[in-house]
Amino acid sequence: MMMLVRFILCLCLGFGGASYGQGGPSKLTVVATFSILGDLIRNVGGETVDVKFIVPENSDPHIYQPTPQDAALLAKADLVFVNGLDFEGWFERLIANSGYKGKVIVAGKNVSPRILVGSKGTAVDDPHAWHCVKNAILYVETIAEALIDARPDLKDMILHNKINYLKKLENLDAWVEAQYAPFPISKRLVVTTHDAFWYYGGSYKITFLSPVGISTDAEPSAAAVAHLIKEIKAKDIRAVFIESLSSRKLVEEIAAEAGVKVDGTLYADSLSAPHDSPSPASTYIDMIRHNTLEIVKGLKS
Ligand code: ZN
Repeated sequence: MMMLVRFILCLCLGFGGASYGQGGPSKLTVVATFSILGDLIRNVGGETVDVKFIVPENSDPHIYQPTPQDAALLAKADLVFVNGLDFEGWFERLIANSGYKGKVIVAGKNVSPRILVGSKGTAVDDPHAWHCVKNAILYVETIAEALIDARPDLKDMILHNKINYLKKLENLDAWVEAQYAPFPISKRLVVTTHDAFWYYGGSYKITFLSPVGISTDAEPSAAAVAHLIKEIKAKDIRAVFIESLSSRKLVEEIAAEAGVKVDGTLYADSLSAPHDSPSPASTYIDMIRHNTLEIVKGLKS
């Protein structure tokens, strides 16, 4: 009986009852490149990790300009995570300048990438893999493996967190699927600012159209905008969204020209900041829920 009580106490309090970093085992200092990835790591690591991310919430990771503070942050890290899939074009130079000598883990390394032909005719990966919850589950597996590899002494706690978080992600995936069940696949058509939701669309059978490609650094051509307006009219598309990091102007002009209204805001490449009011996407799970509810509302309009 005493053994059982002690075991339960250990599970609830952490091993030995001491908190991580406060007389207990030291925390692992982890740096992620952007907020969405940071949140996944925070959920897997729990109180065993101290997670910082380079690109702040509400900033655009596609066009981010690193600062000397970012290099200093990396220099102090035990472990660094990137998305990979051609997302963080600015990262290689930053890490070389930082003096960080540890491992860089590519969180998206196990997903099947969508490969496109870039503007210079070379193959590029669509980086936005996290929007498919099944891919986020692969990210979580990679994150857990890397954290345990860095700190085998924290294995039990990390595995415990991982199992709990994977259950939440599996429930989320099933919930998203159920939200779209009432809509015929042929009617699941959505317009957004840039081509960030293909993995989400692939998973839930939604076609996303956008005037800009997979990176926000590209300007849409007049022909692409005209083509999109034509498509919205021809296919009677009602679900039209701006994104939290993009200028409203382009999509508002397209919507006005096509005679439809803009439905709301989707979060593509960043979480909302905790101090935003409202802050509907302050975690990965909240972001997916928010985007799904918004899109469903748009499809009904
Ligand atoms: Zn993007």
